[in-house]
Amino acid sequence: MILVSGGAGYIGSHFVKRLLQNRSDILVLDNLSRGHRESIPANVEFINADIRNYVELKDSLSNYKIDAVVHFAAFAYVGESVENPELYYENNVMGSFNLIRVVKDLGVKSFVFSSTCSLYGNPDNIPISENEKVKPINPYAQTKLTVENILSDFSISYGINYAALRYFNAAGADTSGEIGESHDPEPHLIPIVLQAALGKREKVFIFGDDYNTPDGTCIRDYIHVNDLADAHISALRYLEDEKKSLIVNLGTGEGYSVKEIIDTAAKITGRDIQSETTDRRPGDPAVLVADNKKALDILGWKPEHDLESIISSAWNWHKNQKY
Ligand code: UDP
Repeated sequence: MILVSGGAGYIGSHFVKRLLQNRSDILVLDNLSRGHRESIPANVEFINADIRNYVELKDSLSNYKIDAVVHFAAFAYVGESVENPELYYENNVMGSFNLIRVVKDLGVKSFVFSSTCSLYGNPDNIPISENEKVKPINPYAQTKLTVENILSDFSISYGINYAALRYFNAAGADTSGEIGESHDPEPHLIPIVLQAALGKREKVFIFGDDYNTPDGTCIRDYIHVNDLADAHISALRYLEDEKKSLIVNLGTGEGYSVKEIIDTAAKITGRDIQSETTDRRPGDPAVLVADNKKALDILGWKPEHDLESIISSAWNWHKNQKY
């Protein structure tokens, strides 16, 4: 059985949908604090539990024969992590530690972890390879790095193999239109731009146009959520076959500026999208683009979706948002 923590969240739910095409023995664990019950397929077993509660976690998982864990459950807003680091250390570090301890005691040897490119802070080199120095500049990234370190220590001492998948900017939605991105409040650029296209917000605020980039706005590497989901399936296979750990960046290797995102969304939606430049958002690096060679070589994985496909799938979801 594959245990998926945070399987009701944005990336977790897309992973579950993709994994269901290969296997049916999936167990989703989520406390639904930010996830959506509607995003879990009816035929998937679901436990409503909180990773912060060690006893509850242990009790709920003890009866299952778990082969591998894919751990998505976490809070993932940089701004919120600066306002409330306590919440982030409690959920992302303590919660992950609880889960890792429980699965270690259950003898699970494969653990896939949602990590982040924000570990690299303001990187010295673009594109960013896994050899880039990690230097988190906010509590969110610190919590993810701490969990990577716990996993590294546990792999050495207890023989747990882990894959730390360092995501760049997850975006887009499953083409079925059944599941997609739904955060409240929504901090991410592409959903915000599409909400503006739908008239749900008046305009998009561009956080700074005085960066050292061609049009002055920040550049990010947007990766389709189903491409990310598929990389987890490849990572599970890698852990099972190779029996060793892996740290890998997941991005497309292509960067787009905030203005390019707004222009592409205007073209795809055929709507007018108003924007206004405001101050920089604290902690935003100018450019984050992945060097994804390692993922291509080691996982045999390749992103399938380009920016147009990302934005049109997200548009398909946001026009008829189900939750
Ligand atoms: N951004 C923006 N306006 C918004 C939201 C985001 O200009 O309303 C910019 C943000 O500064 C960053 C990029 O869009 O450069 C992507 O931000 P997002 O929050 O989607 O992802 P992040 O890169 O922070 O993980």
